Order: sequence, then structure tokens, then C-alpha cells
Amino acid sequence: MIMSSIAPPHGSTGPGGSSAGGRTGDIQPVAHETRDRILTGSVTLIPFLLLGLAGWQAWNHILRWHDLLTFAIVYFLTVLGVTVGFHRLFTHRSFETSPALRGVLAVLGSAAIEGPVISWVADHRKHHAFTDEEGDPHSPHVDHGSGLRGTLRGLVHAHLGWLFIHTQRGSRAKFAPDLMKDPVIRFVDRTFLVWVLLGMALPFAIGWAIGGGVAAGLTALLWGGAVRIFFVHHVTFSINSLCHTFGRRLFDTDDHSRNLAWLALPSLGEAWHNNHHAFPTSAVHGLGRRQFDVSALVIRTLERMGLVWNVVRISPERQQAKALDAKA
Ligand SMILES: [Zn+2]
Ligand SMILES: [Zn+2]
Repeated sequence: MIMSSIAPPHGSTGPGGSSAGGRTGDIQPVAHETRDRILTGSVTLIPFLLLGLAGWQAWNHILRWHDLLTFAIVYFLTVLGVTVGFHRLFTHRSFETSPALRGVLAVLGSAAIEGPVISWVADHRKHHAFTDEEGDPHSPHVDHGSGLRGTLRGLVHAHLGWLFIHTQRGSRAKFAPDLMKDPVIRFVDRTFLVWVLLGMALPFAIGWAIGGGVAAGLTALLWGGAVRIFFVHHVTFSINSLCHTFGRRLFDTDDHSRNLAWLALPSLGEAWHNNHHAFPTSAVHGLGRRQFDVSALVIRTLERMGLVWNVVRISPERQQAKALDAKA
């Protein structure tokens, strides 16, 4: 899973530049690179700095239960927007649903501040088209050198560094033409900043309502805004960095994708990343009996409620055919 450019789209969706490694037309050009870098830097640095304030609050025992509750609610909703919405629905079409629910999921994912939905999808589809090869927007294994130094450089690039570079971004027109034609998604994509702000207003409103005042609203904003953004980002980024470097490989894929069990719970199931690269369209990433996948549970619940349908599932025979132990 990926984070796209944080800045709103710049309008140009034509064929990309001709930087090394990208095929003509694959790369999304950037119109205001310096502005984009400043926004990306701010959105990653400010939550990190505010984490200190949140730590001070906890240390002095003035952290209230409703701050943590607000954190949990907004974390869960925005990560689900990314995992169930941006990733499993919009990128991989692993199920179908109504325009209304598509809109809701696109809004929730936008509030995670990982870029507008169409840019996110274009980058992630390009990641699957060129996984761990030249052209992958965020591989830790391409052009970072060898040894420990190369591994560390690759991890930094895949985790955060790629967000400041625009040479391998997925062309929106080439990689997401279906979403470019969808009026609901185009609207949510264009109004990205509105959803970012709403993602801040919601924790403030929850804190105000429960705590009964502006001070309670502000501490809820600290936890449901800054602390939440910090954790949402770094859990998401870890799928790109850690899940292409550490963990177990159960399936035979042409890349370095891995399953990282300890990250499965906070990432709501996305850390079963080797499974995902083996079967990208599967709505379920935690294919094993003990592979906990909260996003898959949410999709199954929505299916039982009749809100989603045509959910893609992989038969045990197909899984077995790609399993590494079957080839041993
Ligand atoms: Zn994917
Ligand atoms: Zn991947």
C-alpha cells in the first residue's frame, strides 16, 4: 500500500516526462515541485512535533479517556478509507458497491492525508505494474546500493523519501482512466483539501461534544488529528518499506513482498503483503486461518448487509498452486 503526493492534483494528466526508467506516458508530471515538497514536509513533520506535546500531556496524567477514544475512532475510519476504499476497492476492484458508499470510502481515505484518491491509485497501480523494478515509485530495492547502507537507503526511500521525488509517479490518465471517468471519484479527488479539513473538524467536534468545551475539543484534535495522522502515515508507509524487506514469504511472487505479522493489526490486515502481491484482486489479504485481517472482516460485514457485492475470493486450489511450500 502506498501514499501518493500530498498536494492536490495539479491539473495536468497528460503523458509523463521521460525520466530514466519510466516508459513514456507512465509518469505523472509535477507542476509545482517545491510547493508539493513543502506541503509533504509539513504534513509529515508537524504531527511528529506535536507528538511531543501529546507525550507531555500523557506524562503529566492529564490525558483523558475521550482523547484516546477520539484517536481510536478517527484512526479506524481513516485507515479503513485507505485499506478498504483506496486500496481494495479503487485500486484493485476486489468488490463492487454503490456510488454512495464509493463516495464515503473515498472521503474517509482522503482524510488520511495520503494524497487525492486518483493520484494514490495511479501510484499504487504503477507499484504493482513494476514491483521492485525500475519504474516502481517506492521500491526499497532499486538503485539504493548494496550492503547495510544500501538497505537503509532503500528503506528510507520506500518509507518517506519517495514522497519528495516525482520521477516515478503513476500517470493518472494511464493508470486510473476508470476513476478519471467516475463523477463521484473525480469530485472527491478535486475537493481533497475539504476532506483533510473535515478529518480535523471531526475529532474537534467529538472532543467538544464529550468533554463539553473548547479545551476538550483541542486535546481531542491533538490526538484525533496530529497523533492519528502520525500513526496512520507511518503504519501505511511501513507497508511500502518494511513489507518489502522483512517478514515471511508464503507465495511465489516476482518481487520482494513479505508478510509481517506484527503489523497486521495496526494496518488492519494490509501487512499480509506477500499474499496481496500473489493475489492482488483478493478482497482478503489475511488468507491463512490465523492471519487477522480487519479490513476483510469489514468487507464481509458490508457484504452480509447487502451493501457490497461481487467480492473477489481466491480458491484454495489457486492459493496452493502459488504456495512456496508446494514447490519445495
Ligand atoms: Zn495493492
Ligand atoms: Zn507492495
